[in-house]
Amino acid sequence: MSFAALVRQLRKILGDDGVLHRREDLLLYEYDAGFSRGLPGAVLFPRTTAQVVEIMKLANQAGVSVVPRGAGTGLSGGAISRDAGLILAFSRMNCILEIDLASQRAVVQPGVVNLELTRAVEREGYYFAPDPSSQKACTIGGNVAENSGGPHTLAYGVTVNHVTGLEVVLPDARVLHLGGKAAHAAGYDLTGFFVGSEGTLGIATVITVKLTRLPESAATLLGIYNTIDDAANTVVAITAAGITPAALEMLDGWTLRVVEEAAHAGYPLDSGAVLLIEVEGLREAVEEQAAAIERVCLQQKAREVRRARSAAERELLWKGRKNAFASLGRLSSSYYTQDGVVPRTKIPQTLRFVDEVGKKYGLRIGNIFHAGDGNLHPCILFDVRDKQQTARTLAAGRDILEYCISLGGTLTGEHGIGMEKSNFMPMLFSEENMEVMQALRQAFNPRGLLNPMKLLPTTRGCRELRTPLMPRVVA
Ligand SMILES: Cc1cc2nc3c(=O)[nH]c(=O)nc-3n(C[C@H](O)[C@H](O)[C@H](O)COP(=O)(O)OP(=O)(O)OC[C@H]3O[C@@H](n4cnc5c(N)ncnc54)[C@H](O)[C@@H]3O)c2cc1C
Repeated sequence: MSFAALVRQLRKILGDDGVLHRREDLLLYEYDAGFSRGLPGAVLFPRTTAQVVEIMKLANQAGVSVVPRGAGTGLSGGAISRDAGLILAFSRMNCILEIDLASQRAVVQPGVVNLELTRAVEREGYYFAPDPSSQKACTIGGNVAENSGGPHTLAYGVTVNHVTGLEVVLPDARVLHLGGKAAHAAGYDLTGFFVGSEGTLGIATVITVKLTRLPESAATLLGIYNTIDDAANTVVAITAAGITPAALEMLDGWTLRVVEEAAHAGYPLDSGAVLLIEVEGLREAVEEQAAAIERVCLQQKAREVRRARSAAERELLWKGRKNAFASLGRLSSSYYTQDGVVPRTKIPQTLRFVDEVGKKYGLRIGNIFHAGDGNLHPCILFDVRDKQQTARTLAAGRDILEYCISLGGTLTGEHGIGMEKSNFMPMLFSEENMEVMQALRQAFNPRGLLNPMKLLPTTRGCRELRTPLMPRVVA
């Protein structure tokens, strides 16, 4: 079947307004929030699972690839078509199908925006705990595919800890129903297996998630430091003291000044680093923990510890953190956010290494990250139109990830592997591990039509280490 004939068939299923195929319309879907580019052949907007099934049947007949897409906020190039295939955009499958407060569950379509679910239940005293900083835009389908985290996942866990059921359309158009509202399902945990599979095994069309009770009380503290080392040492000291805050985030001094200029969150301009720390729970426990944290911060040479005294002050402190990447965007035409993880005891030395990498390549690198999880987000500022700078940026990103792995860390904490780090996978996994992962993908996605060239390397064996990092980066 020719591509033009495929588009005609797809328009019969989805209607004329359900298919974009003119170049000028497709340009908007050429990128996500990551580094890479790829122009799709067509973009489809299904409204029902039945339509997704019909699309997959046609894609199989035509031998054309399909890439699911939520809001396109992904940071690893997962929602991009690398071979001019079909993009399946979920913006019209965006209904909350059921809210079952008695069971503390919600059943949603994949295109529901993360924050909208919380907004729908917060008056009843509940929220959806996974809270990526992109929560105003990103979708729950995208969160499931990336196993997304966020500032509060230190205490509450990542998306996989909040998904109990899935309806999934397989690449061959069969429909699976996995799990449900119950906390545990029998047999292989296929629900857990699908979460974090980055749209390479199946398409989530209905998602059942846990709703979490809003805490009775919360305290938000800002630890202010003269040096980044003192702030990093505090992270280790807080957990060593047996305290697990709900959130423990860090911004380095240079970054917080940039953020402050844009967001006016009240971060002190002359500090070397700040820690944003939140504790939640029953009122008395919160008071005790907040006092203990303040003591630890001061022992670790915090210059000052401020506490938000109202909901408005708390929101303001978070505004800085949640808008941090956008604030950096004011300084540079492009930035590349890395997503490496190290054991949290290794944070101080890793931050020193990141600083050295910046000097080595002549690049400015800001650090805003989930310190409690050891999940670093060095943000490398560069100009994508400058090929040499782009190459240095990629090399710097790779050096940082290699260093994270050398310390016993990993390649991603929450942004996924996508197309940007797929060729790095053999740095982390043995050939046997890679073979088993390939076999699993093969079992669900034997023709490789669903989200090809993502997550796993594109060539075989350890040779991938030598393949070009991103052959299709457009400067
Ligand atoms: C400013 C900013 C801050 C961010 N902060 C965080 C953060 O704190 N924590 C975090 O984890 N991430 C963060 N991210 C990354 C991103 O927002 C998350 O990965 C998010 O979950 C992606 O959701 P999305 O709807 O945009 O998915 P997309 O980018 O559209 O897609 C992401 C992946 O999911 C797949 N996919 C989408 N829908 C489906 C589906 N229904 N079925 C199967 N596969 C599907 C796609 O194929 C792709 O591989 C941030 C991004 C930005 C731009």
